[in-house]
This record gives sequence, C-alpha cells and structure tokens, in this order.
Amino acid sequence: MDQNHIVTIDGPVGSGKSTIGRLLAKKLELVYLDTGAMYRVVALEAKNREIVPEDEESLGKLCREVKISFKHDPEGQRVFSGENDVSGEIRTPEISMLASKISALGAVRKELVHLQQQAGQNGRIVVDGRDAGTVIFPRALFKFFLDAGVEIRARRRYKELVEKNMKVDYTDIFQDIQKRDENDRSRSLSPLKPAPDAVIVDTSEMTIEEVVGRLSLEIDQKAASLP
Ligand code: C5P
Repeated sequence: MDQNHIVTIDGPVGSGKSTIGRLLAKKLELVYLDTGAMYRVVALEAKNREIVPEDEESLGKLCREVKISFKHDPEGQRVFSGENDVSGEIRTPEISMLASKISALGAVRKELVHLQQQAGQNGRIVVDGRDAGTVIFPRALFKFFLDAGVEIRARRRYKELVEKNMKVDYTDIFQDIQKRDENDRSRSLSPLKPAPDAVIVDTSEMTIEEVVGRLSLEIDQKAASLP
C-alpha cells in the first residue's frame, strides 16, 4: 500500500476535522474521506431497520450490506446510502449519539476500517476520523490531531447545525459533545488519541484558513525533507 500520500486528521467533535480535511484535499488535489459519515450511515440504517445497538452481529452484517458513497458538491459533500441522499438525516443529534454507540463495537469497526483502507489503498487521500492515524493508516506520513476547547467546539457545532436549518439547543449540543468525546476516548477499541507521530494543532484561536495553511506548510516541509 502506498501510504506516502496519505494525510490523516483525527480529533474530537467540532475540532474542525471535516472542514479542514475537505479544504486541504481540494488544495492538494487529493481525495477526501469522511470516516465519521460512514459510522453515521450505519447508525441511520440500523435505526431504519430497527436493529438495536446491542445486536453486534446484525450490525456487522449491516455494514457489509450498506453501500456508502460520496459525491462532491460545491456546498461540500453529499453522502449516499445506496441510491438515497442521506446527507441531512445523518447529521441529527439522535444519529450522532447512535453513531457514537455503535462505533464502540468490534464488528462494526472491523468492517468499516476495511472499507476505509480499501478507499485509501492507492494513497493520495485525506482521511478524517478518530483512528485514522492510529489504526486505519498507521504508516501514513502526514498525521495531524486537531483539538480545541470544549466550549469553542460546541459553539462551532451549534453554528454549523443552525446554518443547516436544524432546530437545536446550545446546551444539548454542549452535553452531546462531552458525552461523545467521553465515549470515544474511553472505549477499549481504537480510542480517540493522537498517534505518537501526529502533529497536534490547537485550533481554538485559529481561523479555518490559518489551520489549512499550517497543515499545508507542515506537509510541504516534511515532503521536502524526505529522501
Ligand atoms: O466525525 P463524526 O462526528 O461525524 O463521527 C460520528 C461518530 O462516529 C463519532 O462520535 C465517533 O464515535 C465515531 N467515529 C469513530 N471512528 C472514526 C470516525 C467516527 O469511532 N474514524
């Protein structure tokens, strides 16, 4: 697997991973893969098919059945489950929490990590998630871990959902973020943590453009130093 051109971006909810990942991929002409969206599609399908989060075997089977795909759009990226555009449905607070629950299951992670590794097998990809640099692509050359204060992340997420015309409450978002981060950090399988060789960037006081600029610079400098 050529992992020379793989960029991984991990971090907690609202640290800016997906916005930065998408813009960085565009700038560097790489493919962008939002692994969180994959967990969300499985969560949505589980809800629609009435599969409970405790039923690991059925959820593993579901991961093998669903056809997750992405289409680029000037507004961002559209996410599909089979033929259905589920871009909006997968972003509700209910699906966020369900995705967080099912992502702790070994059967689900095994299937989705396999699909993610296939998507990146030719390199030239930016992958964002929680375990992109630790589990999906441990040999990637360019690894980042984005972080920011919890209040800043909650405000960003609130703004993002309001802009999508969703009716949300700031306190609910704040609590949801804390809960999901705690789930992601404390689970035994692929917990959220920086890879030992990741560059950690605190985005609290940075604009989106500044973060993209910082990551591009790190990539250019590292690429220039390679044999
Ligand atoms: O990134 P996003 O918030 O869309 O991800 C939804 C949920 O999926 C996260 O709360 C996390 O529990 C899970 N996830 C994961 N591993 C990834 C990406 C997301 O466990 N690589």
